[in-house]
Amino acid sequence: MLKIAIQKSGRLSEKSLELIAEAGIKVANSERKLVAQASNFPIEMLYLRDDDIPQCVNDGVADVGFVGENVLLETGYPLDIVERLGFGKCRLSLAIPKAENYENVKWFNGKKIATSYPKILQDYLTKNGVKAEIHQISGSVEISTGVGIADAIFDIVSSGSTLISNGLKEVEVALQSEAVMVGKKLNAEKKAILEKLLFRLHAVQKGRKNKYVMLNAPTESVEKITAVIPGMKSPTVVPLAQKGWCSVHSVLPEGQIWEIIDQLHALGAEGILVMPIEKMIL
Ligand code: ATP
Ligand code: ZN
Repeated sequence: MLKIAIQKSGRLSEKSLELIAEAGIKVANSERKLVAQASNFPIEMLYLRDDDIPQCVNDGVADVGFVGENVLLETGYPLDIVERLGFGKCRLSLAIPKAENYENVKWFNGKKIATSYPKILQDYLTKNGVKAEIHQISGSVEISTGVGIADAIFDIVSSGSTLISNGLKEVEVALQSEAVMVGKKLNAEKKAILEKLLFRLHAVQKGRKNKYVMLNAPTESVEKITAVIPGMKSPTVVPLAQKGWCSVHSVLPEGQIWEIIDQLHALGAEGILVMPIEKMIL
């Protein structure tokens, strides 16, 4: 049995459960108890506060955990990042009142900075040779400068709109974070379960990063078209009932879809269909 800790309720909960579900693992979570066993895979889910996850994995209460890299680094436990999960993306940044003149990180010398991430901030300041006072608070960090508790803040930013509405501007990014799977050394039995889980998670994640594309093209353009879309091995080309036309199928990286579609269109492709891929095993 492999014990997996995920956030009980918060920004990472839904995406964590979704990933497990897409890996075909059924966990009854109707009442969201503290612990739940999967019915068709040898895992047990532990629902915890995100801040407690690194310690639980470190102490062996859980074998692996899904947690923000920011939380992992702040707690400082010596865990391995087994897998980057691709969700919960955010950054930890320094922000100062909008009207301040800012040139570089030296601005923070002698300043008071409010944060709930004192460890990551201290590491960043030390690395940059800055001496500042860190004022640790647990919530509403963004209002600290407005109420005069601090000269600057160090906090999680995703869109930046919270900063703007508090009259702040982001001046330094100290950490780019996303949800990660953390773990420690496991025994052979648990390791085998983890490998099986990772195999499935990779299939889901690869599927998410790619799209299945189908299109019709005049046979004479097929060569040029297949040069634009490489596909997993090479694209599938099948003749259509209509003479002189083919159907081309391929797998394309999500991030380049529009660029490639523009090229395909220019080469005479018609009836272009782009479809999501649920799982992808190479
Ligand atoms: P808990 O009750 O479990 O302690 P929390 O309030 O500390 O929850 P959440 O706000 O749910 O935590 O955030 C969980 C994680 O989501 C963060 O640690 C961070 O890694 C990530 N995250 C992504 N985007 C954001 C964002 N805009 N604001 C805060 N956290 C974010
Ligand atoms: Zn928390």
